[in-house]
Amino acid sequence: MASRVTFRTCPLCEATCGLRIEVENGRVTRIRGDADDPFSKGFICPKGSTLGALHDDPDRLRRPLVRRDGDHVEVSWEDAFAEVERRLTTLVATDGPEAVAVYIGNPNAHNFANTLAIRPLVKALRTRNVYSASTVDQMPKHVACGLLYGHPFSIPVPDIDRTAFLLLLGANPLESNGSLATAPDWPGRLEAIRRRGGRVVVVDPRRTRTAERADLHVPIRPGTDAALLAGIARTLFAEGLAAPGTLAADVIGIDLVERAVAGFTPHRVALFTGVPADTVASLARELAAAPTAVVYGRIGTHTTAYGTLAAWLVDVLNVMTGNLDRPGGAMFPHAAHERPRRVPRPFRTGRWHSRVRGLPESLGELPVATLADEMETPGPGQVRALLTIAGNPALTTPDAGRLDGLLAGLELMVCVDPYLNATTRHADVILPPPSVLQKSHYDLAFTALSVRNVSDFSPAVFEREPGSPSEFEILVRLAAIAAGLGADADPAALVAATLAAEIAKAVDDPTSPIHGRDGAEIERALGDRPVEERLLDLMLRTGHRGDGFGVRPDGISLAMLEHHPHGIDLGPLEPRLPDVLTTESGKVELAPPSLIADLTRLEHALDTTAAGGMVLVGRRQLRTANSWTQNVAVLVRGKDSCAAQLHPDDAGRLGLVDGATARVSSAAGFVDVPVVLTDAIMPGVVCIPYGWGHGLPGTRQAVAAGHAGVNVNLLTDASVVDPLSGNAVLNGIPVTVVPA
Ligand code: SF4
Repeated sequence: MASRVTFRTCPLCEATCGLRIEVENGRVTRIRGDADDPFSKGFICPKGSTLGALHDDPDRLRRPLVRRDGDHVEVSWEDAFAEVERRLTTLVATDGPEAVAVYIGNPNAHNFANTLAIRPLVKALRTRNVYSASTVDQMPKHVACGLLYGHPFSIPVPDIDRTAFLLLLGANPLESNGSLATAPDWPGRLEAIRRRGGRVVVVDPRRTRTAERADLHVPIRPGTDAALLAGIARTLFAEGLAAPGTLAADVIGIDLVERAVAGFTPHRVALFTGVPADTVASLARELAAAPTAVVYGRIGTHTTAYGTLAAWLVDVLNVMTGNLDRPGGAMFPHAAHERPRRVPRPFRTGRWHSRVRGLPESLGELPVATLADEMETPGPGQVRALLTIAGNPALTTPDAGRLDGLLAGLELMVCVDPYLNATTRHADVILPPPSVLQKSHYDLAFTALSVRNVSDFSPAVFEREPGSPSEFEILVRLAAIAAGLGADADPAALVAATLAAEIAKAVDDPTSPIHGRDGAEIERALGDRPVEERLLDLMLRTGHRGDGFGVRPDGISLAMLEHHPHGIDLGPLEPRLPDVLTTESGKVELAPPSLIADLTRLEHALDTTAAGGMVLVGRRQLRTANSWTQNVAVLVRGKDSCAAQLHPDDAGRLGLVDGATARVSSAAGFVDVPVVLTDAIMPGVVCIPYGWGHGLPGTRQAVAAGHAGVNVNLLTDASVVDPLSGNAVLNGIPVTVVPA
């Protein structure tokens, strides 16, 4: 078989690096960064070169599994879908649709086909018990942006390629490669800020790799970032440094924000956060004085009891320093597939609430921190079945030990997943999707979060196993079963109906370039690609940069992208105010009542004395992607990387030495974990990476089992959430640490 070279966007994290993949005799022989990719320019991290290993992994499931007498056995696809139909139909008939919950994992954000298929599937299931990884780490940003700008996906990103001053909080892009800010090569981009005379400041309880490369590292007590941000805002107002400039015309509520932050004096903030008062003030002055500046907060700021406040205050600072929507500040990406937004509609959360704890819905989801409550508490609507799609909640959601026990007792569990892992070991049916190299790729989610406008389509590298459906087809067939059409419903007819409905919507949409056109003509123009690609093509061609099916011959289409295997650079971000706004007022609504009210909760907390004792924070690692890459030997070999970091002063006090095993306990549970001593972490804080805890009985991931590590979510507390977004609280968990 001939050797070939193919190019592809890496789907493993948000950085979207271009890869150059060498294939010989049907196997990947080498992967390097694609030097001709206009965005990533050859950058690659250790994970990117392992797509071949993920594809070849002997533990990756190729055929469906069904539980028979306690064991998972291979069955045909037809038998697997028939099993789902038989059991799901019976359960829904007895207990109603709300008895079925859905958990949508993080990899779905990297999979355009799933993005397109999941909503119809959820609709067909007729359940409001919808949960996802979003309420583990990012819902606060969606809620804050929904309230400020009118849409939860109108998220401004730091224009790091042009800024003169970058203030990062709770973000470690040198390990994570960035999140809610898509940028390949963060190390190079941060270095470039300093090379052009700018400054980088990192606020974090740990001196992370990112902090080590910054001009200044500001340690902060975990969970208190919102107070620091409010203190900086207060200083801007108090010292006459608040200067929104021309933004003022597009913003309402500045006076309300000024009043709301008035109590956050640097002195009070210092006592709460551990950040000295003069540092609080000097950060405000630096932000105000820089020619361009941007504040960017990520997971460490979101996974706290004040997550939405922190997400909001980041944007408040960008507005109050005149840095929202200008080059070098925080800017709104403009993804190629976006159409002009529809009529303004107020963004709301809490349209319904969870049954047991009364927690509010956000973006159509309930907080995953309450999924265990919904399974455990009897009564109408009790969750008795779970569908997971590319998710591993038994490792990645709070109080995972409790959830794991409840998964074992469900009446039905169906998982769309390539592995028999900590979660899917409880499944009755596992439907494995094709490998990452057997599907085409387009970043619908991350082109909308990118620090530069780009567009890049990657065809599949390999064919699927004979007879195996695409992941889109799997989800469509599940939707057909949920809708009562049966496991035997013709998938081709189902997807054709989906496509026809989307074309009809585009033809009816007055903002679409094909408004009023003949739907049949559009369908013919989409050709005979797999239907998920036709849906994607429809989105791209009717997007603001699309060819409009002939209206703009130079515009984007899938066919055009296929002629650009390295991707297309669409230029730097451009100002988008006020067009991007879909608030009722048509302005940036800087002082949403719910946030102003929640600030009072934070202000009351300022005067509470810290309880003392140790607190837990999580840790992101360059060589892992949440829990889903630990079965790749090259990524887990070497020194045990699932260790707890501890300050030497704490270790001495607690009777621990480097390499000893500590028992870390919380209200939720305990783990025994090796300790690494480092002065890079604040005294009083213990840090354990997440995504570990493999090798449980019934799993089939040999490499991961050999490097099991401990599950940090056995310690995190599901009873506490950020009240505005329902997001889990993963940082600042009170723990005790003793020798094991
Ligand atoms: S940084 Fe992310 S996108 Fe780039 S190669 Fe690594 S995992 Fe892939």
